[in-house]
Amino acid sequence: MSEQETDEPTVPIVCEACGTTSRVALSDLRESLETHNEHRHDGEEIAQVDPVIADALADAVADDLGLLEDE
Ligand SMILES: [Zn+2]
Repeated sequence: MSEQETDEPTVPIVCEACGTTSRVALSDLRESLETHNEHRHDGEEIAQVDPVIADALADAVADDLGLLEDE
């Protein structure tokens, strides 16, 4: 078995309290954040998607859904 990366998109997550950043697969994103916050921060939502990426993702999703229609 090789350690090849899958072609699944990964998302950077940051935790300011821990001073850590890591990348997780998009499909694991929610679980990774919940697990980290639950174990490290008593369930507080401290670890989060890198804000820069979150914005880009939100735009992309909004675009996909046609929410940014030109007037
Ligand atoms: Zn943390």
